[in-house]
Amino acid sequence: MTMIDSNLQGVRARIARACLTAGRAPDTVALLAVSKTFGPEAVREAALVGQRLFGENYIQEAVDKMARLATMDLPQPLEWHCIGPIQSNKTRLVAEHFDWVHTVDRLKTAERLSAQRPDGLAPLEVCIQVNVDGGGTKSGVAPQQALELARAVARLPRLRLRGVMSIPDPLPDAAAELAVHRRVRELFDELRTQGGPGFEAFDTLSLGMTADLEAAIAAGSTMVRVGSGIFGARDYGARPA
Ligand SMILES: *Cc1c(COP(=O)(O)O)cnc(C)c1O
Repeated sequence: MTMIDSNLQGVRARIARACLTAGRAPDTVALLAVSKTFGPEAVREAALVGQRLFGENYIQEAVDKMARLATMDLPQPLEWHCIGPIQSNKTRLVAEHFDWVHTVDRLKTAERLSAQRPDGLAPLEVCIQVNVDGGGTKSGVAPQQALELARAVARLPRLRLRGVMSIPDPLPDAAAELAVHRRVRELFDELRTQGGPGFEAFDTLSLGMTADLEAAIAAGSTMVRVGSGIFGARDYGARPA
């Protein structure tokens, strides 16, 4: 068994335990494998043991990786999720290559993604990134502006609004962690119930990483984004340019 295989089994077991504790069915939480800084071989290894959803932060790195993977034998088609900040000059690459975007926090970005989504592809699935615990310097829309942004995004023709994503700052204890995660969950419920037209597919709460996936699942996460817990420690210095 490879290290990635055994790590994946460990992460799946953590998710199953957290679901059991929370009284949730284990298939209500999807696992997004965050492969940033790791090469196509690592992605392929995970794919060979059943992993289908992959998350990437750096657009050019991701697109290069996808091109390499397209030449390899894979057991199933992969689904790509953009989870990094998107500069305006990168929206076209994202619209052309990804299936999902978790990091929409400005209407401008969403409008470009919608306009640039190729006709031959399914609508781009998007989550609104919310900032529940940081100041104005952090990515994500403020909670008070989230509903307005989500409604505007829901009207864009080539996007499909799927939910909310958040990256709470790390906290030292589980109780504090859970409290922040619950604030994100409450905002998710608020948007889902108040959104209106265009919110029919609003079913995704993208919350939780390697360190905090238990708290996130306890709060209601439907998708955890796990990198180091699957692929090991990241070496940013070795990242392909
Ligand atoms: C890197 C990253 C992750 C994965 O973090 P780990 O701690 O390695 O699990 C998840 N979400 C986002 C937005 C990230 O940038």
